[in-house]
Amino acid sequence: MVLAKYDLHCHTTVSDGVLSPCELVARAAQQDVEVLAITDHDSIGALAPATVAAKAVGMRLLPGVELTASWGSRVVHLVGLGFDPAADSLTRYLENLTALRLDRAQRIAGKLMARKLPDLLPAVLELAGDGQVGRPHFAMALVAAGVCESEQQAFKNYLGMGKVGDVQMAWPAMSVALGLLHDIGGVGILAHPTKYRLTFTRLRSLLTEFKAAGGDGIEVSYSGIKPDHQRELQKIARKMDLMVSAGSDFHQPGKPWVELGRFMPVESDCRHVLSSLL
Ligand code: AMP
Ligand code: ZN
Ligand code: FE
Ligand code: FE
Repeated sequence: MVLAKYDLHCHTTVSDGVLSPCELVARAAQQDVEVLAITDHDSIGALAPATVAAKAVGMRLLPGVELTASWGSRVVHLVGLGFDPAADSLTRYLENLTALRLDRAQRIAGKLMARKLPDLLPAVLELAGDGQVGRPHFAMALVAAGVCESEQQAFKNYLGMGKVGDVQMAWPAMSVALGLLHDIGGVGILAHPTKYRLTFTRLRSLLTEFKAAGGDGIEVSYSGIKPDHQRELQKIARKMDLMVSAGSDFHQPGKPWVELGRFMPVESDCRHVLSSLL
């Protein structure tokens, strides 16, 4: 199967991306992307407006989402693709995640205030607008307030793993998220497996549980992945009979090396998730 130019992982203003759904589709079209899945964090709010925009430019749009889930005490991201976006169970599931994100934002703001920082919650909610609120909004607010010089520094000092803003939440378990995606006719893909700061040994344990819970595939190509890691993930995917997926994880224009539709090609002897979706 010859694959069209595609991107199965990207974000809009509906979560922590900078482009609106329509702007994102327009940019993807400029990059000659023919098949697109918008995967906002815990929301499918981009799907309706993007569907109109995609139709106008003849682009194939697949329902997508990036679900926040827990694996033990860790947080993992699951890219859901090809599900029924109108399913009631999905609406309820995402409403719960919206509430958890709001609760988390309040807690993060409180923790930062306990560190003698100003109350960032109003600015953060303003930045998030109608979309899902996330840590990147805190990073922007920390820069705007002059507390940090860059968003990267905000993650390094306040928001990243183990820092004060890394608040533990009762995210749905990975197995629950996979169950939901299957119930509504979709597939569940483990997003960016090398971004969880796990050793490959721990990553294999994660993938074993993921597979046992019905996980369908893993991302093997995305912005920032090292070529030897991509090869290793493809090897694991073949061995575990998992499908492979890929996407840019684009959030905003102007980041060097991150562009819609841009990532290393996937090995052709892997089972590509697009073959099961198109
Ligand atoms: P959240 O889902 O609200 O916890 O935010 C997760 C998002 O924060 C990711 O999708 C990235 O866009 C961003 N992010 C996470 N860790 C970092 C980091 N260390 N540096 C920059 N951005 C990060
Ligand atoms: Zn993000
Ligand atoms: Fe992610
Ligand atoms: Fe993402």
